[in-house]
Amino acid sequence: MNGHTHFVIGISAGIVLAANLDANTPATLAIIAAAGLGALAPDIDTPNSLISRRLWPLSLLSRPFLKHRGLTHGLLAFFLVSVGILLAIGLGVPNVLWGFPAGWATHIIADLCTKDGLRLLWPKRRDFRVLPRRFAVRTGSLGEAIIALVFFVWVLYQGFGIPSVHSAITSAIQYWQ
Ligand SMILES: [Zn+2]
Repeated sequence: MNGHTHFVIGISAGIVLAANLDANTPATLAIIAAAGLGALAPDIDTPNSLISRRLWPLSLLSRPFLKHRGLTHGLLAFFLVSVGILLAIGLGVPNVLWGFPAGWATHIIADLCTKDGLRLLWPKRRDFRVLPRRFAVRTGSLGEAIIALVFFVWVLYQGFGIPSVHSAITSAIQYWQ
């Protein structure tokens, strides 16, 4: 899936997570931002992805070591990132960082819905996919954008009833105006 789709799904996951953690407004915004970043992060293995174009020095440095839909798209990397965040939170870093692995997880799940599937058990070469090929989404297709949009509107609608999410969204809107 493309970067914008991952970003929308990641932000949606951040809204749900913040609501479940009963976070206050600044924490809600931080969780949503971390989830959006986490949802883009696995595609650092692709030179022209949204994240690689923003963090190009990191992308350039990692290029010799990463192949697309390899290490960063497997369960091993997700596990290591989650353990790293857990340790950081244990050392006193704010727990809003949970948004990052949550967003990362949405990336893996979303890519599992594509026709190409993922090497979930990297370095094993077997491709996994959650939908039968006929129904799997083609990267960059209109279907992909529609799924993300419907999901986002639904989450936003659900989240809007929760006070911290409501004020986080309105303060984010005010910030961008
Ligand atoms: Zn990906």
